[in-house]
Amino acid sequence: MGFISDQLIKWHKISGRHNLPWQNTKDPYFVWLSEVMLQQTQVNTVLPYFKKFTKKFSSIDLLASATEEEVLELWSGLGYYARARNLHKTAIIITENFNGIFPSSCEELLALPGIGRSTAGAISAIAFKKRKPILDGNVKRVFTRYFGIREWAGKISVEKNLWNLATKNLPETTTHIHTYTQALMDLGATICKRSQPLCNHCPLQEHCISFNKNWTKEIPISRPKKFLPTNEIFILAIDSNDHFLLNKRLTEGVWPGLWSMPEVRNFKSSSSWLKKNLTTENFRVIKEGIYKTSFTHYKLNIQYQHIIVHSSKLNKVKNYKWINKNNIKNTALPSPIRKIFSTL
Ligand code: SF4
Repeated sequence: MGFISDQLIKWHKISGRHNLPWQNTKDPYFVWLSEVMLQQTQVNTVLPYFKKFTKKFSSIDLLASATEEEVLELWSGLGYYARARNLHKTAIIITENFNGIFPSSCEELLALPGIGRSTAGAISAIAFKKRKPILDGNVKRVFTRYFGIREWAGKISVEKNLWNLATKNLPETTTHIHTYTQALMDLGATICKRSQPLCNHCPLQEHCISFNKNWTKEIPISRPKKFLPTNEIFILAIDSNDHFLLNKRLTEGVWPGLWSMPEVRNFKSSSSWLKKNLTTENFRVIKEGIYKTSFTHYKLNIQYQHIIVHSSKLNKVKNYKWINKNNIKNTALPSPIRKIFSTL
């Protein structure tokens, strides 16, 4: 057995995580669910969502038969909602095309919405005991440090090299592939952390290039900065009798299908919007602010106005609803909108 796999398998038995709810099962449904939830999200944030999701959708059939709205509501607050929409789509495909049985081949897994190579590898290794590599963000950090790779891991050539290394360093047999895969994830999350890795507790220390050359602060190399254009939107937090007015966004554009605040061209048009849609000229702007966020290809400045109105009569506008302030937390909102609500 190679040094990395040998060390990790031994280390995991004593020091790995053994009490996470998805570790007690090899059911591909739960492995898939946890893998998708853990993409770009910390374990502690995922835990309550995993519990409530598996309580309500204890099988893939139940998830497939839910509406997208129900799935998004349960996902509310976890962010990156495309993951929830893809989970739902994939559950429907598996129910309809695979009789509800998770496919075990990597090729079939990769063809499903929201399942990339690393997620497919994790499902194959953990649920189906196949000799397949994983390469999520944490694992990239472990390998770039261990092999002393001083380039950004998102670069195509570097990523290709990392996949080769991940494949080459798999255990030779499938006997412990489940433990190895879990150990790699655990090492990235608990020992080889982004800042202040705990090298003195690491089973890979002996041959780790970054440890031996004192490079752990420099590696992983950050993504090179590039110029991003800035877009701007104007939204209204319309407040009436302990309710806010929400608008369901279109299925295209930013935050498709999620609930947000009504959007106007600019704040000069706020009064005409209120007159047209709520038949009122009686309103008070009590706060204005700006929330800045960024996406992969652009930055977004969200200008918002908090407006008190006394009329809650909506003219016949589709996809709008009043929602009690206490229920905002259970609504499928994009996280910047959730943050803006929390400041009002
Ligand atoms: S020795 Fe340190 S830098 Fe190297 S893999 Fe272990 S924790 Fe990461």
